[in-house]
Amino acid sequence: MDINPCPEFRAELLRKCSQCGIEKPYTGFYRCKDCRGGRRSQCKACGLVWARKNRRRIQAGRVGERKRLKEEVLTSYGNGVCSCVACGESQLVCLTIDHIDGQGFRHRKEIKRHGISFYRWLRQQGFPKGYQTLCMNCQFVKRAKRKEYSYKD
Ligand SMILES: [Zn+2]
Ligand SMILES: [Zn+2]
Repeated sequence: MDINPCPEFRAELLRKCSQCGIEKPYTGFYRCKDCRGGRRSQCKACGLVWARKNRRRIQAGRVGERKRLKEEVLTSYGNGVCSCVACGESQLVCLTIDHIDGQGFRHRKEIKRHGISFYRWLRQQGFPKGYQTLCMNCQFVKRAKRKEYSYKD
């Protein structure tokens, strides 16, 4: 047994980190009730590195999931290709889902969904008809044209 019951002695005791292998005093390890010796086997520095790496991995995973979802929805409404149905623009950041009859804003408000949750909703609904993949440019053109028409009316 390398653990002395006297707390002062234990504080002086060196413990080898299971991650970096460096011997550090007990205070260099996070407390952990369930761990052997009452401290984690990883030192604080290694624990922080691990947490940072993990956080980044989780965030990257989330971003990837959103991108995949967006791609899937845009491809479905782009007639099988992830690009604008009007001009062929294929940069994901430029592409949006257009409500063909022009009620997009009102509709989105009705279902109270914006951004990525709107894409999720479309997929949940099994890609309902009435939408198409348009790039920002073509959206603006479409909107401008509609205004022209309504002026003529
Ligand atoms: Zn370490
Ligand atoms: Zn376009």
